[in-house]
Amino acid sequence: MSEQETIHQFRLRARDWLASHAPATIPSRKDPEYLRVAREFRRAMFEAGFAGIDWPVAFGGQGRTAAERRAFEEEASNHILPLVVFDIGLGMCAPTILSVGTDEQKRRFIRPMLDGSEIWCQLFSEPAAGSDVASLLTRAVVDGDHFIVNGQKVWTTGAEVSDWGMILVRTNPDVPKHRGLTMLVVDMQAPGVTVQPLVDMTGVAHFNEVFFDDVHVPLDAVVGEVDRGWDTARVLLTHERLAVTSGGGTAGGSSGPLSFAGLKAAAESSGILAEPSAQQALVDFYLLEQSLRLFNDRITRDVLRGVDPGARGSVGKLLQGELLLRGGVLAAELDNGDVVAGDAADELAADVLFTPALAIGGGTNEIQLSIIAERLLGLPREPASDTKLPFRTKPTTKEGAA
Ligand SMILES: Cc1cc2nc3c(=O)[nH]c(=O)nc-3n(C[C@H](O)[C@H](O)[C@H](O)COP(=O)(O)OP(=O)(O)OC[C@H]3O[C@@H](n4cnc5c(N)ncnc54)[C@H](O)[C@@H]3O)c2cc1C
Repeated sequence: MSEQETIHQFRLRARDWLASHAPATIPSRKDPEYLRVAREFRRAMFEAGFAGIDWPVAFGGQGRTAAERRAFEEEASNHILPLVVFDIGLGMCAPTILSVGTDEQKRRFIRPMLDGSEIWCQLFSEPAAGSDVASLLTRAVVDGDHFIVNGQKVWTTGAEVSDWGMILVRTNPDVPKHRGLTMLVVDMQAPGVTVQPLVDMTGVAHFNEVFFDDVHVPLDAVVGEVDRGWDTARVLLTHERLAVTSGGGTAGGSSGPLSFAGLKAAAESSGILAEPSAQQALVDFYLLEQSLRLFNDRITRDVLRGVDPGARGSVGKLLQGELLLRGGVLAAELDNGDVVAGDAADELAADVLFTPALAIGGGTNEIQLSIIAERLLGLPREPASDTKLPFRTKPTTKEGAA
């Protein structure tokens, strides 16, 4: 790689590399081979200099420009790549550590995420704390040079294959709910961590229940500050919405089965493309897809200039969810309903059945609408009675009952 390489040359090099290295076939997520293929591809990407393109060299990145990263992402979106298993680590946990972690955490954790040797998950949701995640009950108590963590998380994507997790825990129940939380890095292989897969309607265990039973976590595993975990969580949630908005890990993207290109190809092969109603539906879909792409480009440009996209991330997330839902419905229609009647083991049927998930994961549509109403439109805040009281006094919690 020469220092004089222009963005255009970089793009062509990326295009060539992807053409010769993108796996011809990707095993199903249910197949244990998937993980081997995914890790191998990620390592090859790292060795070729296409991982962490605009991240600091000191922590394993390439130290190149954000525009070059964008060029690579555009080229990569023309392929179906086995990268979804790294999305939470690279899209959410790594940027959070780069923003608020210590140098020691950056040195220890970023590079193995980039080369695929370590996989991460994010542990926020609990059975009684999803949308209102600040009501979570998982406790961490200091004992000598460790925290002792006890509690249960749920819907944890990828926990079954993760080496590390970023977990939000309650460290101080005597202050209002947002002020007594702490973000920790937890070793998912540590004694006392139990992962139970949850199978969804696609037939795949995309997420898990995770139980913590006297799990020891070192004091230096705090990301951000003790009792200021809500601040760290907000950093992570912003990255989560941006990762979802950019289509990471979905069957959308510019060439997936639920993209305009994928749907048009399906309509052509089923012979339905000649029908005006199918053409109209495809045009409507194309307009929404293009509008979202332009909106995302604008947000990405702002992020590259260091401007916080704020609540606009919620608009992108909402629209991305709507686009995927429409793509799912269209795929079923264009396929003459065979998708709906088909076996969930069929890849397209599984993609279609997974489309409602985006309206829930990463914050439900209703929560995104509230954020947009309050922070973008300036409408009155949703009334909340429990944001000023010490968490321990909250009557509906076990802490409150204690
Ligand atoms: C595919 C997928 C992957 C996920 N991965 C992870 C993960 O890796 N880590 C993790 O921690 N979590 C994960 N989640 C969990 C996700 O963040 C929660 O499901 C989500 O925040 C909603 O919480 P809940 O399921 O408890 O629903 P609830 O919060 O109980 O909501 C139930 C319903 O009530 C509505 N509602 C709740 N509060 C309000 C309100 N104030 N105003 C209006 N409507 C409201 C909701 O919109 C929803 O329709 C994942 C979820 C999915 C679907």
